[in-house]
Amino acid sequence: MRRNYDSCKRVLVTGGAGFLGSHLIDRLLSDGHEVVCVDNLFTGTKHNIEHLHSNARFEFLRHDITFPLHVEVDEIYNLACPASPVQYQHDPVQTTKTSVHGAINMLGLAKRLKCRILQASTSEVYGDPAVHPQTEDYWGHVNPIGPRSCYDEGKRCAETLFFDYHRQCGVDIKIARIFNTYGPRMHRADGRVVSNFIIQALSDEPITLYGEGNQTRSFCYVDDLIDGLVRLMDSRASFTGPVNLGNDREFTIRELAELVLAETGSSSKLVHLPLPRDDPRQRRPDLSLARRELGWQPAIRLQDGLKPTVAFFHHDEVRRLREEKPHPIAAE
Ligand code: NAD
Ligand code: UDP
Ligand code: UDP
Repeated sequence: MRRNYDSCKRVLVTGGAGFLGSHLIDRLLSDGHEVVCVDNLFTGTKHNIEHLHSNARFEFLRHDITFPLHVEVDEIYNLACPASPVQYQHDPVQTTKTSVHGAINMLGLAKRLKCRILQASTSEVYGDPAVHPQTEDYWGHVNPIGPRSCYDEGKRCAETLFFDYHRQCGVDIKIARIFNTYGPRMHRADGRVVSNFIIQALSDEPITLYGEGNQTRSFCYVDDLIDGLVRLMDSRASFTGPVNLGNDREFTIRELAELVLAETGSSSKLVHLPLPRDDPRQRRPDLSLARRELGWQPAIRLQDGLKPTVAFFHHDEVRRLREEKPHPIAAE
């Protein structure tokens, strides 16, 4: 859906230099909006947004959302937060601060501006779920003191803050619970399963299955997810969510490895490494609410979404090798 110029808005995207944020910005700019991207570049990179710098409707601010922010915008997407277990466990205190202090600041901003704000929440609020597939009314099964807690409990507290600002101050909120999403611009070193397997397969290194590889996830291609986020932002005011966004086709991690091997034509072997603590055994969204309220459902199969993702990592590898290679004159 493309908006006309009359409905052009100035939109703040926090975490805009990250994987999902940079795709969301591409979509908002192509819809005719102005975008302010706020990011502290903790896990995001300037590379993800370098193609936007000549766009007069794009602005980048290097800023940490745990500190107050004073900008004038019509709408806020709050995506800032490291998302992969390796990265959110690197500095767990900062992860909780980003979710909690960051949410308070962005909600304070939305309250002052009387503007709509969308929170990128996560399937991790369900923890290692005892209900399968996960529906939005399930309260979850979360360890409050484990290695994943900084992320899970931070995101749960952010949801609490969104609802309290909504009830107490009338802030117009939307909450998306995002399930595992993949695609071009995933960070190559963030340890997520899709990027790990593709990079290992492309370099013919062993594919690292944690545990037996029988745990399940449901993988959503980034374009589908972005479309869901924009539809949620544009949904009727009385619909706050939380709403699950993801793909409801469930795969074991071993099946994912086999699909990556088929797509890359790699001769990598599968190896087993220990399963990380508190790793959820199964995960699949119930998408009934998203279908009903947003008229949205994912369209891209994992087999199809892996193609552009593999191509991205292939090009990324070639670019990195070129950058690392000494300049012929300098090498003489
Ligand atoms: P990402 O790490 O690529 O992007 C996060 C961005 O936030 C990065 O650019 C990072 O530099 C920035 N950031 C982190 N802390 C910040 C701070 N304090 N101030 C300003 N910027 C900060 O991750 P992503 O996959 O793009 O995830 C985006 C959002 O979606 C996150 O909130 C994440 O929790 C949520 N989410 C993602 C997935 C997924 O599968 N990708 C699943 C569930 C939820
Ligand atoms: N805030 C911000 N930008 C604004 C308005 C508020 O960053 O434009 C921050 C502010 O610093 C405060 C937080 O949002 O810490 C919460 O604001 P709120 O008005 O809810 O609380 P108060 O300012 O009364 O503590
Ligand atoms: N995983 C794996 N090998 C890897 C990376 C991850 O087997 O090299 C598993 C991990 O244990 C988890 C699943 O793949 O069960 C998804 O991991 P990811 O870190 O991508 O996301 P999560 O859903 O756990 O946050």
